[in-house]
Amino acid sequence: MKSYQVVDFGKPLELREYKNPEPKGKEILVKISACGVCHSDLHLADGYFDLGDGNRITLADRGTKLPFTPGHEITGTVVALGEEAKNIEIGDSGIVFPWIGCGSCEACVEGNETLCEAPKYLGARLDGGYSDHIIVPDGRYLVSYGDMDPATAAPYACSGLTAFSALKKIPLASANDWIVIIGAGGVGINGILLSSTVHEAKVLVIDNDPEKREKALEAGANKAFSPDDKDAIRDVVGIGAKAAIDFVGRPETTDFGLSLVKKGGIVIVVGLYGGSLKLSLPLVPMRSITLKGSYVGELRELKELVEIIKQGNTKLIPVKKQALETANEAMLDLRAGKVNGRIVLVPN
Ligand SMILES: [Zn+2]
Ligand SMILES: [Zn+2]
Repeated sequence: MKSYQVVDFGKPLELREYKNPEPKGKEILVKISACGVCHSDLHLADGYFDLGDGNRITLADRGTKLPFTPGHEITGTVVALGEEAKNIEIGDSGIVFPWIGCGSCEACVEGNETLCEAPKYLGARLDGGYSDHIIVPDGRYLVSYGDMDPATAAPYACSGLTAFSALKKIPLASANDWIVIIGAGGVGINGILLSSTVHEAKVLVIDNDPEKREKALEAGANKAFSPDDKDAIRDVVGIGAKAAIDFVGRPETTDFGLSLVKKGGIVIVVGLYGGSLKLSLPLVPMRSITLKGSYVGELRELKELVEIIKQGNTKLIPVKKQALETANEAMLDLRAGKVNGRIVLVPN
């Protein structure tokens, strides 16, 4: 098994070769067909998240042991089964759901594994998909994608699911409502593509890159503005938007989102760019606004999303296939903001 691993935080990934692991208990061994390169892989490789005001969460503090293999947007085919693996067969293919919890706490039992306090996320806590094989803790985490291309299916495990789950956290928005999407990068574009699968609302996109605004309109946004066009944005949303989703996660972007929702509105923070927000507290009760976080999504949401995608009425996430060996270059390109759509690593 060839894996590209973080051996030292802040350093390039290194190629390591291991014997293929043997699945035990309910585990399955999956031969990887494709693995998307996600922004959070950069944070994992750096070893920290910026909390603002000079504070950081480090992965070392959170118990991440080196070396480990990043990558959580994985598709593949089952090649070996643990002795207790059920309802799964060798040869089954699917998207690997990576946001796995401990399996026994109340959140996990209720199917809210992203709320588990002892997560076992693939590509973060357990070895991920920058590899040609991966151990998955249970066959139930393999979600069949029908006859889709495995590279096209892979980004739905994070990029697609993250956007979908954020949209699902907004109370049903009608055709007269506006949903503001801040940031038209990979996940933001998915938010635009998937918005109509959840809501009837119109979509207004804010991004300072004209090329990304162009892409946003192509993806189906009704309007796209630079954050400098404050008056024009205000004219469009009138008394305010029903909701805003901040796919960037900077103090300025969340603050802007809060200023654009109407009374009773909700701002969902998804992006992990970093920083800390100064919030005028009286306005929270006076305007009855909600500020809510959304982290990736749940297994049931991934299943629902894949069913929607399989119907074929939704524009797919654009992907660019590259050899697994280009993992470091892919991460550099992503860091430099040079990637439109999703880079997907394909083992040979
Ligand atoms: Zn991700
Ligand atoms: Zn749990």
